[in-house]
Amino acid sequence: MLVLLKPGTAEATAIDVMTRLRMAGLAVHRTEHEGRIRVAAIGDLSAVAWDEVKDWPGVESAQKLSRPFKLASRAFHPHDTILSVGRAAIGDRRITLMAGPCSVEGEEQAFTIAAAVAKAGATVMRGGAYKPRTSPYAFQGLGEEGLKILRRAADAHGLSVISEVMDSQQVSLLARYADILQIGARNMQNYALLREVGHTQKPVMIKRGLASTIEEWLLSAEHVMAQGNQQVMLCERGIRTFETYTRNTLDLNAVPVVKELSHLPVIVDPSHGVGIRNKVAPMARAAIAAGADGLIIEVHHDPDHALSDGAQSLFPNQFDELVAQIRTIAEVVGRSI
Ligand code: PEP
Ligand code: MN
Repeated sequence: MLVLLKPGTAEATAIDVMTRLRMAGLAVHRTEHEGRIRVAAIGDLSAVAWDEVKDWPGVESAQKLSRPFKLASRAFHPHDTILSVGRAAIGDRRITLMAGPCSVEGEEQAFTIAAAVAKAGATVMRGGAYKPRTSPYAFQGLGEEGLKILRRAADAHGLSVISEVMDSQQVSLLARYADILQIGARNMQNYALLREVGHTQKPVMIKRGLASTIEEWLLSAEHVMAQGNQQVMLCERGIRTFETYTRNTLDLNAVPVVKELSHLPVIVDPSHGVGIRNKVAPMARAAIAAGADGLIIEVHHDPDHALSDGAQSLFPNQFDELVAQIRTIAEVVGRSI
């Protein structure tokens, strides 16, 4: 239920309303928009005569939140969420560029790529140390050693770090090295993992599951937020369709749809979305035109020898060129880099 308080409601009255809702067994979350307090009361509404709530002191209206996701919904939180990560304000007017290798492979590789992406304008470095590979025989990542290298390389160039956490038992380890915890597409519905990252105060990026609907994806965000961590962003990375020419089908429809339904920032990953190097830039440009708040792109200085996803990794000069194009497109949609 969404309870909208009257403008200028005294704090004591607001607390009273929230206490009464809590006493009815509901979880209460509060936000403010245009000087007005909004309260989301979540749980079994049968315990409260919710149609009488509108008559409580200080209450202007009380209505059922019709969507299954509540905290992630724009109805509860009308203004855009902006996540502050190092130099980036994700969801702000400025587009956030995250870039780096699919996997951290070693010191030299990570430092070379960090230098290149920082110079091009990225503010966040990506790199996997725990890799969710389809084959158990493929490179699985360097583990904690990879995280150390990634952190050093990023720090040397003033970049923040995003890296994937695959397991709920790895969350505290990842939180020690990364600024953003990435939930991979294969783990979008790993609810134990979502709960665990929900207990941290780290920004979390949830990649869309390979065959997940937008509603399921937003409910994954809700799992994190319901645990108390409101610092969530979503990442469209392509879904499985009947098309086999490209690795996945990048669903750019999701960008304006999610931006309308939710206040959370939306990032697009054209690298995994298309899977073919020379198709990454066109889809990255389209993502920004569609209203994405940022991009996450795989970049490698020697992709032919990359240990994962070389075929979809941009060369540093291609990334550089893409950033220049994004700068122009961003302006057209009222954004900047
Ligand atoms: C990745 O970012 O390298 C990755 C494995 O992505 P996804 O979870 O989208 O497949
Ligand atoms: Mn990859």
